[in-house]
Order: sequence, then C-alpha cells, then structure tokens
Amino acid sequence: MRLADTREGPGCGLTDAARITRAPIPLARPVPLTCPMIAGFHLWTREVVQPAARRHFGTDVQSIETFGSFACRNRNGQPGTRISEHATANALDVSGFILADGRRIPVEAGWISPYATTRGFLREIHKGACRYFSVVLGPDADRFHRNHIHVDMGPWTKCQ
Ligand SMILES: [Zn+2]
Repeated sequence: MRLADTREGPGCGLTDAARITRAPIPLARPVPLTCPMIAGFHLWTREVVQPAARRHFGTDVQSIETFGSFACRNRNGQPGTRISEHATANALDVSGFILADGRRIPVEAGWISPYATTRGFLREIHKGACRYFSVVLGPDADRFHRNHIHVDMGPWTKCQ
C-alpha cells in the first residue's frame, strides 16, 4: 500500500514509501519501507529465510517481528553521527521469527541458543541477507545490534 510523502525534519521523512501487504513472509506489524527495501525483503524472505526455516526447523516462517523501520534519528541514536537510513524508512530492524508451528525464534536469545539448529538458522539468514541488502549488521557487529539484525539499502556496503 503506497504511503503519502512526508517531511519531518532535515533528511527525514518518507518519499515513495509503501507498506508491504503481500510478501513471501509478512511482517507481524506492517511498517513503512522504501521500494528498494520492499524488493530486498521480498527476495530475502523467498530465497533465504523460508528455505532455511524448512531445512533447520522443518516448517515455514509465518511472520517476521521487527523493532520498526522508520525513525527520525542519527545512526545508532547517537549524537554527532550521520543521519540513519531509518530516517527515510530505508532500513529495517529484524528482531524475531514466528514459525508456522507456533515456535518463536528471537534474534537476541537465538543467536547464542544452546540449540545448533537455532544458531545455524540465524547465521544463515544473516549471511544470506548480505546478498539482497547493502548493509547488514547482526549481533556480532557491535553492542547496538545485540538484539536484532539491521538491514538497509543505503549507499554503503557492509556485511557484519
Ligand atoms: Zn537499524
């Protein structure tokens, strides 16, 4: 669903953004995203997340939980840093996966889970995200990403 353009401050607002209404895996809570993000999300969920869930857990991912996409702020919410890709909804913070059998795989606890399947699934979908997004920052990147996987379509390339 196409969203109206907004301007909320310098470098901050929505342009040509939309909410995903159909995807191989829906978001638990629909959030605004740029078109490149929607395309990346579509491909990542279809080519990486769903096949990984079937292989590691023997079931589908039913929905994906996030901490959101759009926030008027600098990188990592720190003063003096560049404006975040979140300021234009060109980023998404993935926090967990709900499986079709009701199991929930949170990024934070799952990353260091005692279960090899859970750790393997999260590392595979994290690495696979680097094929479809410009920047991917997971729990091993830094202290700001302990509990989610940040993906964005900004002008830099990083896979960490
Ligand atoms: Zn983020």
